[in-house]
Amino acid sequence: MASAAENGNVEPPRSALIFLGTGCSSAVPNALCLIQPSDPPCHVCSQSLSIPPNLNPNYRCNTSLLIDYCGSEGEHKYILIDVGKTFREQVLRWFTFHKIPQVDSVILTHEHADAVLGLDDIRIVQPFSPTNDIDPTPIYLTEHAMESIAVKFPYLVKKKLNPGQEIRRVAQLDWTTIENDCTKPFVASGLKFVPLPVMHGEDYVCLGFLFGERFKVAYISDVSRFLPPTEYHISKDGAGQLDLLILDTLYKKGSHNTHFCFPQTLDAVKRLCPKRALLIGMTHEFNHHKDNEFLKDWSTREGIPVQLAYDGLRVSVDL
Ligand SMILES: [Zn+2]
Ligand SMILES: [Zn+2]
Repeated sequence: MASAAENGNVEPPRSALIFLGTGCSSAVPNALCLIQPSDPPCHVCSQSLSIPPNLNPNYRCNTSLLIDYCGSEGEHKYILIDVGKTFREQVLRWFTFHKIPQVDSVILTHEHADAVLGLDDIRIVQPFSPTNDIDPTPIYLTEHAMESIAVKFPYLVKKKLNPGQEIRRVAQLDWTTIENDCTKPFVASGLKFVPLPVMHGEDYVCLGFLFGERFKVAYISDVSRFLPPTEYHISKDGAGQLDLLILDTLYKKGSHNTHFCFPQTLDAVKRLCPKRALLIGMTHEFNHHKDNEFLKDWSTREGIPVQLAYDGLRVSVDL
């Protein structure tokens, strides 16, 4: 088959966002919901026993995004946001399906289990070296996350072996701290990221990220309240309209102390007024097709297309 270039139609270099996970910390199906079924049983969880995950948009791993960034030279860099409890499964399912050969850099939103507990498995996407003699993968995280990870994974942080200690193969990471500050951007694999501090519970600051020059994307996976500088950076009335907002929504009704639920998420979408929004972080209360039908009507009414994302979704973008 002749390539596009041979036909004279040169395609512009394209980047893509690949949703590796769109579920809450306990993931969907909810295991407790299957071992202690309610009466009647939960439709979303029970269907996971008969529909294979790749055909089931209600099968959700921990929230995580892979940015396939195509730079000006046409080379692809793969930037991973968050490495949760389900990371290995996400690699097996989506790196194979979307032909992702490696991870070039890692960015962490915060240090909760569903964002970092897969860090040990970063070695599965690194070249094999029994002596750990490979280039470490750059990883960006706050000082607070760094302190927590040094306790959770001391062997990933410590560089030198004690005298007499055997070499064991572990993930090789090159740690860089970033700030909870919209005015302190950083660059990972050639792409600029603006940190977006948000409250994730009133005692905790988590980061979202704003990226893309030609196509502006904000990714906010864990939020209960926006801080004013962050809200300014991502709203149409502030620094300018987003092309895509990717936003947290945990439960269908009510509110929650550490996350947006559906009512707060939709209010925020209206206020920020992006060109499009995709929702992530859902529990088993969300039923993909049914709730996307509701969102279709909402979108027509409000003039902002909003849908629930799903694991494996790939969105082409021109970053
Ligand atoms: Zn359930
Ligand atoms: Zn969290």
